[in-house]
Amino acid sequence: NITLDFLKELGIEKRNPAFSTGRVFAELNSKRETRKIYSPTDGQLIAEVEMADQSDLEHIVQTAQSAFESWKVLPAPKRGEIVRQIGEELRKYKEPLGKLVTYEMGKIYQEGLGEVQEMIDICDFAVGQSRQLYGLEMKSERQDHRMFEQWHPLGLVGIISAFNFPVAVWSWNSMIAAIGGNVCIWKPSEKTPLTAIACQHILQDVLKNNDLPEGLFSYIIGDAEIGASMSHDSRFPLVSATGSTRMGKKVGAAVGARLGKSLLELGGNNALIITENANIEMAIRATVFGAVGTCGQRCTSTRRLIVHEAVYDQVKERLLKIYPSLSIGHPLDETKLVGPLIDEDSVTAFKNAIEKAKAEGGNLLIGGTSYTQDGLSNNYVHPAIVEASNDFEIVQEETFAPILYLIKYSGEIENAISIQNNVKQGLSSAVFTNHLLESEAFLSAAGSDCGIANVNIGTSGAEIGGAFGGEKETGGGRESGSDAWKAYMRRQTNTVNYGKVLPLAQGIKFDL
Ligand code: NAD
Repeated sequence: NITLDFLKELGIEKRNPAFSTGRVFAELNSKRETRKIYSPTDGQLIAEVEMADQSDLEHIVQTAQSAFESWKVLPAPKRGEIVRQIGEELRKYKEPLGKLVTYEMGKIYQEGLGEVQEMIDICDFAVGQSRQLYGLEMKSERQDHRMFEQWHPLGLVGIISAFNFPVAVWSWNSMIAAIGGNVCIWKPSEKTPLTAIACQHILQDVLKNNDLPEGLFSYIIGDAEIGASMSHDSRFPLVSATGSTRMGKKVGAAVGARLGKSLLELGGNNALIITENANIEMAIRATVFGAVGTCGQRCTSTRRLIVHEAVYDQVKERLLKIYPSLSIGHPLDETKLVGPLIDEDSVTAFKNAIEKAKAEGGNLLIGGTSYTQDGLSNNYVHPAIVEASNDFEIVQEETFAPILYLIKYSGEIENAISIQNNVKQGLSSAVFTNHLLESEAFLSAAGSDCGIANVNIGTSGAEIGGAFGGEKETGGGRESGSDAWKAYMRRQTNTVNYGKVLPLAQGIKFDL
């Protein structure tokens, strides 16, 4: 009994275009291939969406290139003003867009709203940042010389995004890139194109009201091939790609081969450590939210729980009490905490991973089966907990589903840190402890090797003010806050001689 009025409110029932350059939508073209988009929540067909082809990409790139000419010279605070207005529009559409995120991707409504809030927050952040694109002044060694650096726009920024944060990741990239004077072409996940179309609708009015050219913010609905074309195309000085490590290796190699820049935000295999000095109740709350929130489909989801032997049984018992009472169901029903996986392939991957863990000697404590109910799709599962060892092959991998591997450690915190770091990924990490020495050891150079390291906070749920991303096979990129804006700009070092002679650096003599 879910009404789909939010689709109308967002205006996306009007058209199903394969691409948009921001001001006008492409004409419907019956020759384009289409893809049917089913809601993971109830299995209903939401829409049939056209898929762009290479000629669409060409059109978009050319439109964007021409938009860049005027946008790059607009003063940055004026670009910030446009982003401010986009933030205002997003505020107006927060509820319907949040519902669409939920309906198309499957995260619970509170998280759908949270995702839109994150977009609003990054707009606010970017507005402030637009007046703070600071370069440094360096003292020149030469008489009457001034040396400084400036940050200039790069040009076309390609944004390839994943299904699980269908809109927030785009806004992290595009709003920061835009205030820096870049124009953005977004290839959303082919699994969640409708949220992208909705965002473009929301943007359009702002662009129109300000008489801005087409091509500042464009999207292109396509599959991996379109993403690959963007990676190979040297007209994109920067490609920012969020998704699996498998995808990131391909994009990184393609962009690297042409010596472009890539910003990679890839898979995680995040651990939460509970030491014997932890507040267990806080740690349990963080663990459960981290492991089952978004049905385990966050890049920062808690996948490994590393628990000191002194509190292991207590933690296990608490989890086994809570897991059976987790409310699973339609994510637009606000009493539910766990929604579906994105598709049936993910359900298969979930079950296969559990089988593999068992075959490697793991002990399935709870969950691991499908959850079925009339009116729901086949994508719901009972979140699982498996006692495991960190060196299992399956534990070393990211399975994008709610499986929590329970791992015991003994002795000092260093042993837990070593287990935590002993995976290929390096995104998020957390320790629960009230002991200063443990906390500092975890945060030290010998501590967590991840891009995000939290104390008494879980692995998921980062704020936009910090730089977001991770090390090792997570790709090394940083998006969002702090000085992540620098990734979207080129640094230029300038030296001005305001004297009447020409001294050379390093005192070199060169008498003509
Ligand atoms: P995916 O890698 O299957 O797809 C992501 C995007 O890449 C899609 O738009 C897809 O079309 C595109 N793509 C796939 N192959 C490509 C190629 N060869 N060239 C160019 N583009 C290509 O990932 P997914 O299943 O949508 O998302 C889940 C993954 O994303 C998980 O691994 C998760 O950890 C990761 N993720 C990471 C972050 C982060 O910030 N680190 C954030 C969200 C999701």
